[in-house]
Amino acid sequence: MYYIDPHIHMLSRTTDDYEALARMDCVAVSEPAFWPGLDRQNSESFYDYFRHLTEFEPARAAKYGIQHYSWLCVNAKEAENLSLSREVLSFLPEFLNRGNVLGIGEIGLNKNTRNEAIVFMEHKELAIRHDQLILIHTPHLADKLRGTRMILDMLCDDQRIRRERVLVDHAEEHTIRPALDAGFWVGMTLYPTTKCTPQRAADLAERYGTDRLMVNSAGDWGPSRPVAVRDFIFEMRRRRHSESTIRRIVYDNPVQFFSQSPAFQAPIATEDGPA
Ligand SMILES: [Zn+2]
Repeated sequence: MYYIDPHIHMLSRTTDDYEALARMDCVAVSEPAFWPGLDRQNSESFYDYFRHLTEFEPARAAKYGIQHYSWLCVNAKEAENLSLSREVLSFLPEFLNRGNVLGIGEIGLNKNTRNEAIVFMEHKELAIRHDQLILIHTPHLADKLRGTRMILDMLCDDQRIRRERVLVDHAEEHTIRPALDAGFWVGMTLYPTTKCTPQRAADLAERYGTDRLMVNSAGDWGPSRPVAVRDFIFEMRRRRHSESTIRRIVYDNPVQFFSQSPAFQAPIATEDGPA
């Protein structure tokens, strides 16, 4: 079964991982801008990062027959630095018409601070002004519920936001419902230790149905499995869900959501994988 990983940080992965993804029938990936493991000292580092996400990484993915899309922003962790964030936001629009850019992301909150909220709102303005899709990072662990509520409030308070153009990611049992009920798309992240396991994601899919639901590996430089979406497919098959139900979550839904961006072209593959 062909699938799309809608949230994976390929910059942190090796070419072996691209090969593994291709072997597992991953036909497209989307890579949000994120925190590289240390806070960057100047805005030029972001400039080069955006070049990497829009030039080098798509070319690397193409060698393995995988489409590569990206999202641009200052992540919530570095958004604590207000002046740096504003410098980056001043040149970010230059990159929005690059061929593989789907929108603004992953924006959100980390420790739910005032500066993070300010930078979040400024990204939101940018997305509205440039008619971009939005990919949301919800905070981890203890602050997740509060942070998710704050983010949903900031989005829902703005009448200009078209909720079908926003993906709220890293959802778990206690945050999925408010995001779906508000009309947003929702992503579940399949991490080996934190966030959602494939089993918990399958439970959530059974409980909430397949509408506006996606799963991703969020493969990055920490403990993560770049082929985790495949684990979800196996778990759903083990539970005897139909191929069309599974494909809806791992392929059709990402295609439907991403297709709202003119940059996205559905991968040619639309049928089940090779027999
Ligand atoms: Zn991420």
